Amino acid sequence: MKLILIGPPGSGKGTQANLLAEKQRIPHISTGDILREAVKRQTELGKKAAPIMAAGGLVPDDLMVGIIRERFKDEDARRGFILDGFPRTVVQAEKLDQLLTGNGDSRVSVVNLLVPDEVIVGRIVARLTCPSCGAIYHLENSPPKKDEVCDRCGAKLTARADDTETAVRTRLDAFRRQTAPVVGYYRNKSWLREVDGLGTVQEVFERLEQSLAE
Ligand code: AMP
Repeated sequence: MKLILIGPPGSGKGTQANLLAEKQRIPHISTGDILREAVKRQTELGKKAAPIMAAGGLVPDDLMVGIIRERFKDEDARRGFILDGFPRTVVQAEKLDQLLTGNGDSRVSVVNLLVPDEVIVGRIVARLTCPSCGAIYHLENSPPKKDEVCDRCGAKLTARADDTETAVRTRLDAFRRQTAPVVGYYRNKSWLREVDGLGTVQEVFERLEQSLAE
């Protein structure tokens, strides 16, 4: 399976990608997670990305394409992958096409997760994530079994630095201006599937699997 998950921040992309990757035994490639790790390690990439991410903006395309190019070289990505958070601009989508064609994979599935704006802010401000394994929780809808502790790996959960109301609004704006055209790009290729992202994690997962089976 080669899948691109698109959706606004808080649409549940990361949660659904985690579930599907586990079930299909393929890597979940989240460019946000890769960047957060670089910020934590204070690498050159991390130093460039940190202020942009904190403000809710987009990291430049050339850096992002370089990250994906490197990640695709890893053996585990040959069998398949779920891309979460990439591509976010039409330039990134075009470069991804070139990379995939170069690797002999010209076709991927693309799912757009649909969630209205008014639901998003509420989801994000109540979100907790695991800085160690990437698991995602919601304080009311899917809380961890033990307060602030990751069910999966036991690490202490944190709120993402960009999960503030101000940064969320900028991220939503970036989504509308720069990522919505990516949806059109894949629609024109007839690769796009749309999945309703409202409901419980399990309900959305069932819809996602059903859509991919069609
Ligand atoms: P995410 O975890 O996907 O919400 O990403 C968190 C932040 O990382 C975004 O708000 C951007 O600042 C940055 N980011 C992640 N992926 C990309 C990308 N493909 N292009 C540009 N910036 C990105």
